[in-house]
Amino acid sequence: MVARIIDGKQRAAVLRRDIAIGVGHLRDETGITPKLATILVGNDPASAIYVRRKAEQAAAVGMQTESHRLCETIAQAELLSLIDALNRDGAVHGILVQLPLPQHIDKAAVLRAIDPAKDVDGFHPINVGLLASDDHAALDRIIPCTPMGCMMLLVDELGSLEGLNAVVVGCSNIVGRPMAQLLLQARCTVSIAHIHTRNLPDLVAAADILVSAAGAPGLIKGAWVKAGAIVIDVGINHVPNDDGHGSRIVGDVCFDEAKERASAITPVPGGVGPMTIACLLENTLRAASALQARDLPNSETRKKGTPQFA
Ligand code: NAD
Repeated sequence: MVARIIDGKQRAAVLRRDIAIGVGHLRDETGITPKLATILVGNDPASAIYVRRKAEQAAAVGMQTESHRLCETIAQAELLSLIDALNRDGAVHGILVQLPLPQHIDKAAVLRAIDPAKDVDGFHPINVGLLASDDHAALDRIIPCTPMGCMMLLVDELGSLEGLNAVVVGCSNIVGRPMAQLLLQARCTVSIAHIHTRNLPDLVAAADILVSAAGAPGLIKGAWVKAGAIVIDVGINHVPNDDGHGSRIVGDVCFDEAKERASAITPVPGGVGPMTIACLLENTLRAASALQARDLPNSETRKKGTPQFA
């Protein structure tokens, strides 16, 4: 079997087109234009590129943006006071603090300070808790962007995920844990592997759905992959080119081997990555719609087409 290559770039373009339509509807019906505020602390070049891309793509779907760039040595209190101001600003619907933050800043305190209704990354403990609950209404809320994108790709491939064995490699708050929660909500039987897992090849071999988010290049060997499995490779790893000049980006999965066994597989780059930013825009539109409905409870306007995975 040779796997179908899942085109995340193309899927993300379709999602952005739908979001642009949703932004237009919201504006026409309520006069509200969703606004995303980004906060970047320090000078990490990769983070600067990510934040710029997020703002550019938000603008391209018709959203407003507001970018805050703070110096590396900023006091935590000053960052918290900026977040407080954005929380209170009725024109701002989404707040994104680019991670990682400098060491002297307490990341958890910063994430907790964001109004959960504007937490478009879905990292606030309230949003984490809602995702972990079996209240399906919670799925109508904010879901962390990368796992949301993975679920969209899986639902496109499979329709229902009910009863399938899903293995998630990696248990970070950003990817692995919320991914496992979403798969559970979709009625999969879910296993979570991590750095201390002893029987990774056996676990992977039982997976109808494999999501790898370890950040370990070449971790998943093709021979481990169950014939016909769907493989979603979240890993983004920079490795040196074979000729010793420069570097390239690869995932966690040995792609050439795995594609001979899987029924569908995401490439790196061009798989999950493009979905992540598109899902951030989806969350910003969702947040703007929900805030508008909260402020005007009698309004007819609701976000249409909210993705449901269960
Ligand atoms: P993280 O370092 O916070 O977590 C990595 C997880 O993988 C940990 O739970 C760890 O226990 C596990 N792990 C590491 N090595 C392992 C091994 N050899 N065997 C089993 N488990 C192992 O990383 P993260 O933030 O969750 O990101 C994971 C990867 O996904 C990174 O490569 C990151 O760049 C990438 N990522 C991609 C996107 C995207 O949009 N495509 C978004 C976020 C993260």
